[in-house]
Amino acid sequence: MNASQHVVPGGRGSADGVPALGVEGLSRHFGSLRAVQEVTFEVRAGSRHAVIGPNGAGKSTLFALIAGALPATSGRVRLHGDDVTSMAEYARANRGLVRTFQHSSLFLSATARENVLLAVQRRHGVQASPWRSVTRRRALLEEADEVLAQLGLLDRAGAAAGALSHGERRQLEVAVALATAPSVLLLDEPAAGMSPADTQAFQQIVLGLPQEVTVLLVEHDLDLVFGLADTVTVLHLGEHLITGDPEQVRASEAVQSAYLGAEDTSDLFLEEGS
Ligand code: ADP
Ligand code: MG
Repeated sequence: MNASQHVVPGGRGSADGVPALGVEGLSRHFGSLRAVQEVTFEVRAGSRHAVIGPNGAGKSTLFALIAGALPATSGRVRLHGDDVTSMAEYARANRGLVRTFQHSSLFLSATARENVLLAVQRRHGVQASPWRSVTRRRALLEEADEVLAQLGLLDRAGAAAGALSHGERRQLEVAVALATAPSVLLLDEPAAGMSPADTQAFQQIVLGLPQEVTVLLVEHDLDLVFGLADTVTVLHLGEHLITGDPEQVRASEAVQSAYLGAEDTSDLFLEEGS
């Protein structure tokens, strides 16, 4: 059995043609401020889908609405067709919608392996006495190591999480999320604070995740976005501008003027590899 077979979700994916995520007329207002306004798009099962937009576009708010960290003012979120709008974050996570945290939720004094093992145990409902059976314990450890290997961290398994480099820690956060066998993995600015080399390595890791895991990321680093996303959604001032493949998005005049009008100008329009 190869590594990826162990961590694919168990029967919680989308039926054929049903989007992994559906965002339907979703809004979140803060007083008179429309942080997210009537946003509608779908995330295809198996896709690597990025949400981008200038500062203040509503990306973090949208992410929190999808994860369930923030209640919506109106609209719906569907997970594999099911309406999860009124569900708490943990209930969405139990259904396979799992986020990594921008601010680390790792146990820094525990090893990388122990951090992943905890998530593996949670997934299998092992709480009180994981030590009961040596065979069982070994199986859980093997599973943890498979996840670490997928994230390129196996050689750091015995290191304390607190001793890992910044890039390695971000990888470990993804490993912890992946160990719960998500069907949809939400990545909140995974490249924030990463070196260019770490970002490149991270890109390869995300590209190497099992196809059964749908990935939705909110990301500032447009090189990373255009290096791994097959679909890109652009927000601007809380509104949905476009969802399309990277070429459509790069070519969009609305996107160009949104970015050029913001202080957050970027290399969105550079040709690939330039
Ligand atoms: P982005 O992540 O794209 O930069 P945000 O979702 O963080 O955008 O913010 C969108 C808008 O909502 C901004 O104008 C921001 O100031 C506002 N905002 C975000 N969170 C809150 C909040 N908790 N209370 C009031 N305004 C907020
Ligand atoms: Mg943000």
